[in-house]
This record gives sequence, structure tokens and C-alpha cells, in this order.
Amino acid sequence: MHVLILGGTAEGRELAGLLAERLPSLKVTSSLAGRVAAPRLPSGEVRVGGFGGSAGLAAWLRENAVHLLIDATHPFAGTISRNAAEAAAQAHVPLLAVRRPGWVQEPGDDWHRVDSLADAARVLPGLGTRVFLTTGRTGVEAFAGLDPLWFLLRSVDPPAPGLPVPARLEVLLDRGPFTLDGERELLRAHRIDVLVTKDSGGGATAPKLAAARSLGVRVVVVRRPVPSPGVPSVVDAPGALEWVRKRLHDPRPPTDA
Ligand code: NAP
Repeated sequence: MHVLILGGTAEGRELAGLLAERLPSLKVTSSLAGRVAAPRLPSGEVRVGGFGGSAGLAAWLRENAVHLLIDATHPFAGTISRNAAEAAAQAHVPLLAVRRPGWVQEPGDDWHRVDSLADAARVLPGLGTRVFLTTGRTGVEAFAGLDPLWFLLRSVDPPAPGLPVPARLEVLLDRGPFTLDGERELLRAHRIDVLVTKDSGGGATAPKLAAARSLGVRVVVVRRPVPSPGVPSVVDAPGALEWVRKRLHDPRPPTDA
């Protein structure tokens, strides 16, 4: 049986590891978009690069005799998740999504929820002057033109050359997991008064929220895109392992998760 994991996340890597360890007779392929120059690789086979839309993914599923498709991509990777839903339906392959829960506001948080990076850029000038931007290098152009503000962008790779970026921008190349002490120190050292984040959820990058809370730093939280309807989901890799186990014992097309 062949399982394709659409990855690029900690959950995708964890799931590939769990399947290799617990169900070694399965063939497992992890798929990465190829956005990061030196990605953390999951165990097992890995393919890199787009499929060419939902039709390309459906063709890949057929040509590679994929039995189960698991969408373990990031909650903000909305296009590939939509493509996965369409391709799974076209190729008649059962699909499961791994959707980590979003973050929950706690007492002491000063959060401002917005629908997009463009909306985040619109509200920022009223919230602070020294911005910690943790929404990734793609989309940084949404903040170009906010010349009075100073930005610290933290990303795995630098922004693509040629893209418009804020005039006063410092780039910090780093990737999680991060610690509360480290995040607090970073916010203090750069005199950050507002933080911008996607509602990514998960533990690896959550300490920035606790650090912001403890220092009274405002937080702009970008809401998640709405997931495709009708796709069964679990919240973590162990949940996906159980789903695969069930499918092994009953490989008929599923009617539920
Ligand atoms: P996206 O906007 O949903 O997808 C754009 C295109 O990239 C897709 O149409 C697909 O190309 C290709 N693609 C995306 N994920 C892929 C995968 N796992 N394997 C093969 N092709 C993939 O995605 P994105 O937001 O740019 O994210 C790209 C990757 O980075 C995802 O795998 C995601 O898990 C990871 N990631 C994203 C974020 C984020 O904030 N968006 C954060 C952390 C990690 P084709 O149409 O040609 O197939």
C-alpha cells in the first residue's frame, strides 16, 4: 500500500517517521513544495516540487498507485489543500487532513485579529512602530510602503530578491522551535512593540505569544483560510497513524474519518 503525505510541516515529518516505525510494510512518500533551500527531510522517500494543480496531483496519484492521501500541509497552505481535495475526489483516493488547532487568546493578551496580510499592514500603523514580522518571507511585500515603521522579519530563507520590502527592514534567518526566554530576549533587544503572526498553531513557534503577553507587546493575528468542506481531519500525526491503521484493516473507500 502506498501513502502520499503532503508535508512541509512538523506533523508531516512526524507522521512519516511514525509510519516507517509502526507500519514498515507501507510505501510512504512525502511531498515538499521546494520553498525552503535546505528543508528538514522526513524519513522515507521524498519528492520535491509542485504537481501542476489538482489535475497534476490526481495524475500523480494514479500513476504512482497511491492508496491513501494525507494532507499534512501548513494551515495557511490553502491552495495545495484545495488541490488535494479535488485530486482525491478525481482519483478516488481516500483523503485525510492533519489540522493542528489554532492558538487561543489568554488573559493578558492584546490580540488584533485580521483576515489577511494586507489587513495586517493596514492596522499596523495604529498599533506600534517596531514590528516583529513572523509571517514568513512570502507575503513580506504586503508591508512595503510602511516607511515610518521598523521591521524585524524572521524567516528560514531571505525574501526573494527584487520583491518590494519595507524600507526599514532587518532580516533574521532562523527556524523554530523557539524558547520563551529566547523570544523575550529578542523582543526586548529590538524594542518590539507589535508582533505579526499567522494563526499557525502548534508548540514550536508559540513561545513568541507568551513572550509578547509578558512584555505587553500587541499581537496582530492573521486568521486561517477556511478549509475545504467535507475532508475528514485529525489534529496530529498520531491521529493520522490511527486513520491509516483503520484503512489497512478496511481498505474500502471511507464514509467517515
Ligand atoms: P500553497 O500556496 O497552498 O501552494 C501553492 C502551490 O505550491 C501548490 O499549488 C502546489 O503546486 C505547490 N505545493 C504546496 N505544497 C506542496 C507540497 N507539500 N508538495 C508539492 N507541492 C506543493 O502553499 P504555500 O503556502 O506556498 O506552502 C508551501 C509549502 O510550505 C507547503 O507544503 C506547506 O506545508 C509549507 N509551509 C507553508 C507555510 C505557510 O505559512 N504557508 C508555513 C510553513 C510551511 P502545484 O499546483 O504545481 O501542485
